[in-house]
Amino acid sequence: MKKHILVIPGDGIGPEVTTWGKAVLEQIATSFNHEFTYDEALMGHAAIEATGNPLPDETLEKAKKSDAILFGAVGHAKYDNDPSLKVRPEQGLLKIRKELGLYANLRPILLFDELLNASSIKASILKGTDILFFRELTGDVYFGEKLRSEDRHTASDLMIYHKYEVERIAHKAYEAAMQRGRKLCSVDKANVLESSRLWRETVQEIAKQYPEVETTHMFVDNAAMQLIKDPKQFDVVLTANLFGDILTDEASQIAGSMGMLASASVGDGTGFFEPIHGSAHDITGKNLANPLASILSVALMLEISFGLKEEAELIISAIDQVLKEGFRTGDIADDTTSPYKVLGTEEMGKLVLKFITQKTYTN
Ligand code: NAD
Repeated sequence: MKKHILVIPGDGIGPEVTTWGKAVLEQIATSFNHEFTYDEALMGHAAIEATGNPLPDETLEKAKKSDAILFGAVGHAKYDNDPSLKVRPEQGLLKIRKELGLYANLRPILLFDELLNASSIKASILKGTDILFFRELTGDVYFGEKLRSEDRHTASDLMIYHKYEVERIAHKAYEAAMQRGRKLCSVDKANVLESSRLWRETVQEIAKQYPEVETTHMFVDNAAMQLIKDPKQFDVVLTANLFGDILTDEASQIAGSMGMLASASVGDGTGFFEPIHGSAHDITGKNLANPLASILSVALMLEISFGLKEEAELIISAIDQVLKEGFRTGDIADDTTSPYKVLGTEEMGKLVLKFITQKTYTN
């Protein structure tokens, strides 16, 4: 398969972890005889420093021409400490999502057995959890009209959804459910909110086109509780922008560490793949960052954008082997009862590559 991939390393630990995501792509291309070509572009603080713009036109042009984008993170302490700065790294990220029409954010909560003890939830409750969240990205209170009264004592944010916005993400979520456990739970607050009633009616209509998928509807307050009580009950979870924002952060704690979670933002064109973590200034340049979230972002890209499921599974099984053999980066080596071999970013990246190569020739 021939694909052209744009790599945007960004700021902080972004370049350190993205190096290993790209190295894994190169190894997969060799192992499976694919032809992947690459380009690189600036975004965030690095782009502001070089051009004055967090998303230079050149980056956007390259993004539109690529088949998928591997992104690291943006952010710099300078902006965190001075909210008054007008030109900011995160503007690059928001703009590229808008320009590429990325309306669905996918966040898999994939729990490796070896990391069961890294979560604050009991291992017996977590074991076997494998959830794929679909969070809508273009509607809701984030984009509805915002008002503030003249005396500034009253404020409102309009929660707004259009039917087409619900339809297009529902189709994506159902298509994913068909490839997984064929269960979809749509989360809303239809007992109170009109926009949620539209959401539920629309999902009920779309559900008829996917009779093989078991559809359930859950109110968001109950979903927040069920995620902790019994996360294994969920397969695909489909929800709106605000509820998804909150529920996916809650669910990220199921997997233990930020350094282990990847996400994808997709629309009808180029997909955008990134770790969920930020630029982590506290550990930048110290060879301490966990590269596994970037490597898992690559697995997501291969599966979602290119349909290369076998390749994605090989990456996940290589990571599983690394963890089973007791190798950890510092962020996931918090169980002091086990004799872990703690590795730096580079050593961890090299080990994953080694296991991918070994598995290619033994499978
Ligand atoms: P963060 O995710 O960068 O870091 C939070 C904590 O997790 C830190 O202690 C960090 O060391 C640790 N951590 C994060 N990723 C890790 C990894 N791969 N391996 C090991 N440890 C890891 O969040 P923050 O500290 O709130 O924000 C730092 C900067 O990142 C800010 O400028 C913020 O705006 C930006 N940010 C960017 C994105 C993005 O680009 N998508 C997302 C969140 C935050």
